[in-house]
Amino acid sequence: MGEKQKYIFVTGGVLSGVGKGITAASIGAVLQAKGMTVSIQKCDPYLNVDAGLLNPAEHGECYVTRDGAETDLDLGHYERFLDIELTQKNATLSGQLLSNLIADERAGKFEGKTVQLIPHLTRAIQDAIQVASEGSDVHIVEVGGTVGDYEGLSFVEAIREFAQRVGRENCLYVHVVYVPFIGTSKEFKTKPAQNALNDLRGFGIVPDAVVVRTDDPAPENVARKISLFGGVSEDAVLLMPNADTVYEVPLTIAASGLNGLLERFTHNDTPADLSKWQRLVAQQAARPAQDLKVALIAKYMDNEDTYLSVTEALKSAAWAEDVSLTLQWVDATQVDDYDLSKFDAIVVPGGFGGRGIEGKIAAARFALDNNVPYLGLCLGLQLAVIAAARKAGLDDANSTEFNPETSHNVVYIMDGQEGKESTGGTLRLGDYTANLVPGSKVAEAYSSETTTERHRHRYEVNQAFLDDVKNGGLIVSGWSPDGKLVEYVEAPDSTYFVATQAHPEFKSRPDRAHPLFRGLIKAAKLDK
Ligand code: GLN
Repeated sequence: MGEKQKYIFVTGGVLSGVGKGITAASIGAVLQAKGMTVSIQKCDPYLNVDAGLLNPAEHGECYVTRDGAETDLDLGHYERFLDIELTQKNATLSGQLLSNLIADERAGKFEGKTVQLIPHLTRAIQDAIQVASEGSDVHIVEVGGTVGDYEGLSFVEAIREFAQRVGRENCLYVHVVYVPFIGTSKEFKTKPAQNALNDLRGFGIVPDAVVVRTDDPAPENVARKISLFGGVSEDAVLLMPNADTVYEVPLTIAASGLNGLLERFTHNDTPADLSKWQRLVAQQAARPAQDLKVALIAKYMDNEDTYLSVTEALKSAAWAEDVSLTLQWVDATQVDDYDLSKFDAIVVPGGFGGRGIEGKIAAARFALDNNVPYLGLCLGLQLAVIAAARKAGLDDANSTEFNPETSHNVVYIMDGQEGKESTGGTLRLGDYTANLVPGSKVAEAYSSETTTERHRHRYEVNQAFLDDVKNGGLIVSGWSPDGKLVEYVEAPDSTYFVATQAHPEFKSRPDRAHPLFRGLIKAAKLDK
């Protein structure tokens, strides 16, 4: 008889945003390294139906899956750590489940019954977990927020009930808590963590393991205290201070008491092959002598997570090219205050809305005029096209997103455009293939003449102005298969001025740098 499917639930206490997603992904990575098939899912208790309309300044980037789901950035961690491609079923939100429930209620599917959070919503959550778990040996479920949050209670109840559905022995509960260090008394304070564990028990879940997040390394007595007060054995309490790189976390877990716990839980004591993680940590520590300064022209300056996948893709490319990376965020609204000539490469990432647009166009123009290696991502392509059209003399060239009245709408919404209906129009989401022009810089970077990349945009390059754009220095180097949409542009005479309508950053992996990012770093390295 085969092993029963196992479920690992990762919850948080004290604070959110201290690394639950990395913990969940890293547990998965360790199990994968022991030869198991792992699936993973994020449950978010907020009432949004997807993450598409969430403010990135508050929530960090919106991660897009191949099937076009607009999800929480934790899915990006999962994909990078586990090297798998996820879909809508791996991102479960209250808003999504509730709107389905209410639609079913309206359709009369409950046959007169009272529709309630318990059991109806909790059952829907469990069903969603079961669907997402199909085909794996171990399914990991991360619950967003912290236990005790009003809006998350249905999820906590659902994962408690889940043990009744599949058997307690097939469920492992991991609680991630934060332990602050109080500078004045110079001690770590476990009280909030103890309270958080009590909260969890109050909802009927006795955790099997506790991950203790601290800023700096904490002494063993912190683990002992949490073990004693939390009712968890000492080897199931893992102290996890901030790491130099998140890719260290699988190694930390594999070297801890959690490893034995996972082995007993999964009945698999195959030693984990952690060579990939060891390599990544060594690469991060190596700090090669050649240092490249890359400017990221940013609209949001206050939240490091807004361009997370772009940052990770640049890091991977730097590792692959054996250079150190100094990434500087340049405030798009104040580009004039920066000396762009001191950068070895410029990246203009994706974005929506008009703030900072002129600064990004100026940065693209600077790169075009001065042959600075440039990578434009989605909006970064549209603005490069605008910069080239203006250079060719169309002074008011713009996207109708920013100036609906412009007479030179070089970026616009096409008639009859297809995509997901969303506020204000249709969004082209998820995987689309493109054909690259043979001999182009992008074809060379990809070593291929076709690509499939994830998209998330509404506006398109207006082909009526391609001659002007060409006069400004940019040619189209990749098309949608039907030839209707511009997918890539580049400056033929440049070292590496390349832009894509897609978001290639989502497919970059720590140990497999994305070709376009690697191309940028390579060009900057040779150029220096
Ligand atoms: N705002 C632009 C559009 O909707 C670009 C979007 C993006 O960069 N993701 O087309």
